[in-house]
Amino acid sequence: MLVDNHNRTINYVRLAVTDRCNLRCNYCMPAEGINFAKNDKLFTIDELSRLSEILVSQGVDKIRITGGEPFVRKDLMVLMRHLSQLEGLDDISVTTNATLIGPYIDELKELGIKNINVSMDAINRETFEKITRRDHYDTVHNNIIRLITEGFNVRINFIALEGQNIEDILPMLELTKHYEVSVRFLEEMPFNGGSKTFESIAWDYKRILAYVKERHPDYYELPSPKTSTSINYKIPGFKGSFGVIPSFSRTFCGSCNRLRISATGDVITCLYAQPSMNIRDILRAEGSTEKIKESILKAIGSRSKTGFEAQQKYKGVFANSMTSIGG
Ligand code: SAM
Repeated sequence: MLVDNHNRTINYVRLAVTDRCNLRCNYCMPAEGINFAKNDKLFTIDELSRLSEILVSQGVDKIRITGGEPFVRKDLMVLMRHLSQLEGLDDISVTTNATLIGPYIDELKELGIKNINVSMDAINRETFEKITRRDHYDTVHNNIIRLITEGFNVRINFIALEGQNIEDILPMLELTKHYEVSVRFLEEMPFNGGSKTFESIAWDYKRILAYVKERHPDYYELPSPKTSTSINYKIPGFKGSFGVIPSFSRTFCGSCNRLRISATGDVITCLYAQPSMNIRDILRAEGSTEKIKESILKAIGSRSKTGFEAQQKYKGVFANSMTSIGG
């Protein structure tokens, strides 16, 4: 079992399979993209499979595949097939922008992979295209509806961005009236591929909730798992639910059960922390399973208690993009 230096059990790994993305969401990346890693710096599928096996043997029972956009990797399904065979791995989830998932939906279902988070920050086409700087609205919208009707557990992640998509909050919420889907409103974080730090943000979770309450005063809180980063609610009579994720306010650090591994092998013990080490280098240099296990244990043995503490310890400027970290 993986237990950190604050006695938190780590059973959830977010594995980025690429840093490349076919969208250019303006809060995540500059229009021209970032300096994407060279191919040989990215994990191969064999390496990702091996690393996953080791992590599962250490007690990890949930792996979320993220990126970049995971489906830009043509060999992604090879990994998914491997993960679906791993004993002890109870939950395989994917975070995607839903532009390229269409051809893989049937196989994902066959493999029993049901938890799909889709990032969609606007229900209005023009707003969506402005934020993503691409014109994939119909594909994303149709794939979301298809995933929901095919029985996947779909959660839509929507970042509340002042001056951009606030008018879309209530219309996006309307989706939950007709569909069994969860819409989660996230706070923006200072990771956009440029140097950025926020003192405060315009739309924190409290303001988002107050805004929703004006229209739906009778929503009520749902029970959530202890390690959940979202606080979840239901509007009476609506099929789905909604939630808020205080990703900037960081109210959930006390129960954090996750570890992030970037597509180039950086081990990140907190979104606001610098990478602790590079596990790809260890995997390629020594290869021994024991050494890899030891290195993971070492990384989680020196985690910051909270995202605020991690931010304080951060040396240099926050110049990361979420496309490298995996969200
Ligand atoms: N391409 C996939 C997707 O679109 O969901 C996975 C990678 S994406 C980097 C993962 C998540 O990070 C998305 O939900 C995205 O909205 C979120 N994200 C990116 N930049 C962010 C920022 N500056 N603040 C908050 N969330 C951010």
